[in-house]
Amino acid sequence: MYVKTLAVTVGNVLWTAEEMHQRLDRARRVVAGHGWTALLVTPGSDLRYFTGYEAMPLERLTCLVLPASGEATLIVPRLERAAAEAAVLDLPLRLIDYPDGGDAARLLADALPETAGMVGVVDAMPAAHLLPVQRLLPAVRWEEAGRATGSLRAVKSPAEIAALADAGSAIDEVHRQMHQWLRSGRSEADVAADIAAAIRAAGHARTDFVIVASGPNAASPHHSSGSRVIERGDPVVVDIGGTMPSGYCSDCTRTYVAGPSAPGGFVDYYMVLRAAQQTAVAQVRPGVLAETVDAAARSRIAQAGYGPMFLHRTGHGIGLETHENPYIVAGNTDVLAEGMAFSVEPGIYQAGSHGARIEDIVVCTATGARRLNTTETDLIYL
Ligand code: ZN
Ligand code: ZN
Ligand code: ZN
Repeated sequence: MYVKTLAVTVGNVLWTAEEMHQRLDRARRVVAGHGWTALLVTPGSDLRYFTGYEAMPLERLTCLVLPASGEATLIVPRLERAAAEAAVLDLPLRLIDYPDGGDAARLLADALPETAGMVGVVDAMPAAHLLPVQRLLPAVRWEEAGRATGSLRAVKSPAEIAALADAGSAIDEVHRQMHQWLRSGRSEADVAADIAAAIRAAGHARTDFVIVASGPNAASPHHSSGSRVIERGDPVVVDIGGTMPSGYCSDCTRTYVAGPSAPGGFVDYYMVLRAAQQTAVAQVRPGVLAETVDAAARSRIAQAGYGPMFLHRTGHGIGLETHENPYIVAGNTDVLAEGMAFSVEPGIYQAGSHGARIEDIVVCTATGARRLNTTETDLIYL
């Protein structure tokens, strides 16, 4: 296959022109497969994925019009033209700009290949931009494209998997240094502030979230780190993530004990949780249903009598967004495919007392799961 040497810069990472062309080609196949005359893509991770352009979400319309075949058009406000040109470089796109006060809806309506038929629209398109175009084209049927773009983005290319692996190593580095910050006598918020700085120091462009949930707070899966002072012997759930300069995200949870011994009963269910997480990871391979991975973790936890304390789904896809397809949840019959990347993160939460969660990002490969987080999942006493 002929590979052009030109590349698209996303953050400081270079995606090959071949990678970017493949993404647009896959999108065109989705457009054709749904019978859409075109797909409308406004700023957000879909636009970034398809074009490399991290456009500012403005009140002014920016929109990619991608037909099944033929030229794609990127409509941008005139003041954004230079930024858009720099981002999309050699991609086969026609750039159209309009001045402030220009009729962007008319421009968009004219850029559509037909004035009837069906048009796919990404989830991120603001109603303020879509409704005026709908009024101009009353014969068009508009369809949500979120499922289609979501499943397209769920399967990662080798370059994306490399970017996710970098993100995984960076967040692992932070967990490995946890003994420097996490100890009894400090508040959750103080520990979280140190971790947030370390996430950036480890190579992330930004910190997305830091959950430090100690003692009874550990029973709340999305606890926001607060003023509670960590007590000796507290279990502490630390769930952290950031976005790398590549745009790809990290997300990893480990459970620690702040002291030499844990409260009665805690270690018992932690061992069940650890076995459940490993069992679920072992289920991962192409052809397996997403819900099967969830059921593997859930049944293990239920067998040990902790079923009602596992409060959430087992995992979520990860890529340009921390939460994206595929969702590892009961009822999701999506079939796992090679290249899908997602978290496996069961938890057990004992309301009023404590809780635990273990989370790794894994990639589905031909031979099973490849873990992108590689620190030990044993209970860590600090
Ligand atoms: Zn979460
Ligand atoms: Zn997490
Ligand atoms: Zn997660």
